[in-house]
Amino acid sequence: MNEKVIIIGAGAGGLATAIFLKKAGIESVVFEGAPMERESGAGFVLTPNGLNVLETLGITEIAQYSFPLESETTYTSNDKELASLTAAGNDFFSKTFITISRQNLMKLLLEKAEEYKIPVHYNKKLVNLEENSDSITAVFSDDSKVKGELLVGADGIHSRTREIVFPQAKPVYTGYYGIHGLVSSANVKQSFDTMGKAYIDFDNAIGTFVSKCSPASNTDLLWQFIGKEERKIPATELELADNQFIKDWLNEKISGWNNPFSELLNNTENITSRNIFELEELPHWYHGRVTFVGDALHATNPMLGIGASWALEDGMYLAKMLREHGYRDAFYYFENDRKPLVEPARKAATEAFDKIIELREMMRTIYDNRIDW
Ligand SMILES: Cc1cc2nc3c(=O)[nH]c(=O)nc-3n(C[C@H](O)[C@H](O)[C@H](O)COP(=O)(O)OP(=O)(O)OC[C@H]3O[C@@H](n4cnc5c(N)ncnc54)[C@H](O)[C@@H]3O)c2cc1C
Repeated sequence: MNEKVIIIGAGAGGLATAIFLKKAGIESVVFEGAPMERESGAGFVLTPNGLNVLETLGITEIAQYSFPLESETTYTSNDKELASLTAAGNDFFSKTFITISRQNLMKLLLEKAEEYKIPVHYNKKLVNLEENSDSITAVFSDDSKVKGELLVGADGIHSRTREIVFPQAKPVYTGYYGIHGLVSSANVKQSFDTMGKAYIDFDNAIGTFVSKCSPASNTDLLWQFIGKEERKIPATELELADNQFIKDWLNEKISGWNNPFSELLNNTENITSRNIFELEELPHWYHGRVTFVGDALHATNPMLGIGASWALEDGMYLAKMLREHGYRDAFYYFENDRKPLVEPARKAATEAFDKIIELREMMRTIYDNRIDW
């Protein structure tokens, strides 16, 4: 087999790259390490730039599978309203934000990939690369090999592609864990409209964001819980733990809360948990015939809620550059044009959560130090 472009990973970044390449007249093949029938990750907020990519792909059914997020209100752990943000749906941004389950986003992208006749192979885990002057060969865990002209690592934060090409660039634990859940609104009393709700417990550096992510009533409520933990939590107590273990653990964390989140937590059927890592800036966004998109390239602290949108945009821009230039120039322009957009925001996000907590502490000191006459 001699492929034009080999794509490693069938997440948002890998699939968007493959579809845009096809639109640009460039053939590619996607190799995904996991089996097809897996359920992983609960969902995302997609920002206006990410939504723009889906619209450019002609994914017209997006409204049936997602929910507009027009405003966001933040509450304390005791359900007292702190702040309201309406910018998400107003004219400040070119488009609204949406929330969508990972499963629905993948379904829409995979349907598009099928329409464009893009081969997606599952259970194909990249283990090694062999590069020579005129080709790149991907070696998989089943000992099979595929030769191509170019290779795109779209294999996420713990990218094997990146580990081979830039072994010095290791993911760094952020000091936070993230837990996501999907709940059916049919199973809970509270109802949600286009307003997302954040509950923040500043004292314990934990918080959760809840929103509707589909017009249907089946697993249509998405919550994303983030907490601070200095050391990475062992996999057996987080990534590999079962739903009930995570529910009990979170219930203990929020035992002092007096807001409706516990009802959602206790009715959640599908929980995904992970220690959150981010990447330091890579020395380059490409090397030889290999480049990257999405989390493999610039995984960020999820405070920004933009990783999936960036992964989609990377795919679109990389394909656009390859449509217009030979691969050396295309890779150069991809890095040159996108890095200045992505890197400053990524660095700011790294500090954001700590800064909010720090600021809150400062304000509390100011409030408590009243001046007596
Ligand atoms: C707690 C949390 C909350 C988040 N919330 C949001 C949000 O609200 N909005 C948002 O936009 N983003 C959010 N993100 C980030 C978002 O999930 C990622 O940025 C996005 O999924 C990146 O897409 P990707 O395609 O680059 O990688 P992934 O989605 O990670 O896909 C990589 C794919 O590669 C496959 N793979 C891995 N290794 C191999 C291998 N060796 N061989 C073959 N295949 C392989 C994997 O199985 C996977 O399918 C959040 C992240 C976290 C941790």
